[in-house]
Amino acid sequence: MQWWSVSWTREPTCHGSVATEPLPIEVPGERPNAESDDDHWRCLRVRFLVPLLLLAASCSSAGVAAPVRAGSDGEAPTQLSISLYVVDDADGGPTSPLSSRRSLPDIDEIAEQMRTIWDQAGIELIIETIARIEAPGGVLVDLGDGDTSSFLAAARTGAISIPDPATINGFYVARIGTANGVTPFGTRLFFVADDPSVPDERVSSHEIGHILGLHHTLEDPGRLMFSGTDGTNLTDPEVVVARDAAQGILDGVR
Ligand SMILES: [Zn+2]
Repeated sequence: MQWWSVSWTREPTCHGSVATEPLPIEVPGERPNAESDDDHWRCLRVRFLVPLLLLAASCSSAGVAAPVRAGSDGEAPTQLSISLYVVDDADGGPTSPLSSRRSLPDIDEIAEQMRTIWDQAGIELIIETIARIEAPGGVLVDLGDGDTSSFLAAARTGAISIPDPATINGFYVARIGTANGVTPFGTRLFFVADDPSVPDERVSSHEIGHILGLHHTLEDPGRLMFSGTDGTNLTDPEVVVARDAAQGILDGVR
């Protein structure tokens, strides 16, 4: 499966941006997964009201998921590779205010906690690489304004060199507008800002939930997909959706 091989037309995101050029990241399938935790109420109104209500209805009798289900009946976990990058300002260096203040050991720790969170769904995150990369200062200024399009364009053209990209790719950056985390629509990548208002591993895992087709819930703050909390639980229906999505990615059908 080629990281750059499939073009995908970007649709408007909940940030209101509209790009007409194809995305560099291969993500067939239609999922309304682009929004931030900080402006999710607006997103819900605009894009997610109906699917949210459907999801809420489907989950109303399910309750909070047990810690481990998938795989407990002998079913093998679904393995997804993931690469995580700390992004520095190529023009100003690591001390630039546009560079992330995170260290690689920080990301190692986040990755292990993410693996634990997704383990409950029978999805095993396989770490492909954890590395520092550099992006042009102008790209990071745009990200700071909440606009991910120039980062995606720079990644596609090679202006940002991304070593060992995996099935899912996370970028830890200084700022993304006012959001904790963002998953651009129709991609398998996410951004996480420095100093999010909820735990780092929770933001990262929440964004992976969007990549795997999950929407926000208003039911229970203990759930991973309740926006803006430290909840990490997944319901049984969410596990089914996420595992189906993960398998679809592996099979090349989404
Ligand atoms: Zn979200």
